[in-house]
Amino acid sequence: MRCVWPENKAFAFSICDDTDNGTLENLRPIYDLLARLGIRTTKTVWSAPVAPGDRFTGQSLADPEYAAWVQDLARQGFEIGWHGNRSGGSTRQETLAGLETFRQALGYWPRTYANHADNIENIYWGPERFDNPLIRALYRSTTRRRFAGSTPGSPFYWVDVCGEYLTYVRDFTFHDIVTTNVDRWMPYWDPRRPHVKAWFSSSDAADADAFVRLLTVSNLDRLQASGGACILYVHFASGFARDGCVRPDVVQALTELAARPGWYAPVAEILDYMSARSGIHRLTRLQRMRLELQWAREHLGSGLRALRRRRRP
Ligand SMILES: [Zn+2]
Repeated sequence: MRCVWPENKAFAFSICDDTDNGTLENLRPIYDLLARLGIRTTKTVWSAPVAPGDRFTGQSLADPEYAAWVQDLARQGFEIGWHGNRSGGSTRQETLAGLETFRQALGYWPRTYANHADNIENIYWGPERFDNPLIRALYRSTTRRRFAGSTPGSPFYWVDVCGEYLTYVRDFTFHDIVTTNVDRWMPYWDPRRPHVKAWFSSSDAADADAFVRLLTVSNLDRLQASGGACILYVHFASGFARDGCVRPDVVQALTELAARPGWYAPVAEILDYMSARSGIHRLTRLQRMRLELQWAREHLGSGLRALRRRRRP
């Protein structure tokens, strides 16, 4: 999908940084580098400390020094998004209190949100992500996790009010660096998941190794030639910096990127621009099916192939 970007830039690029395991120590070097290169992105935060015994670590807005650094990032033009109240699950009341904590720290409600791992209050998550019954069944066979953020009557239910606070919610991640090649409709509204104002997809670069593998010169050439947008979903706490220094191959990849004529802006800014030009798309069943099938091919590939073999006469 080719688009006309601000200042006639050739393509748009952003990063949504999942805050898992993030600390001042492991995050500050990469954000200093991004600021130096003029690449403004979106950093998600938790409002409250990680639940005791949870498998994730990382700081939250409850830590004054970390909160001050996050506020400084916002002043520099980075977007601060939300990754839920905390790692480890939150009731409706805790989720709403966490949103209020965010507003008090940043002065506004978060605009960009991503569900976190196994948090029970995740919205439209787990099997609920899929309309296709086969993909849903296949997904169920891979995990016993259940989510309740969009289950009326549950103490973890909050999806009914999410649209009062949040604008953009991340759903599928794909392997292609050109996110808009795979998801041609974002930002979109899905009538089967009506409480979310607008969804977006992203390109998966979960850790530093995956990031370097995705941001090759040839992939960046392809992104630039496509005229589309890339929204990377990354975990900057996963191997990007050590002993206060960003990994040299990450520095090289980001420097190569920044030298190109791209529009480097936070996630909500890019999605605002896209929706101002063509509105929030209403996703059809067929379009949903295409997104689900592509996601399943990339993430449940071996399971899908086994299912097909079994269905053959
Ligand atoms: Zn997470």
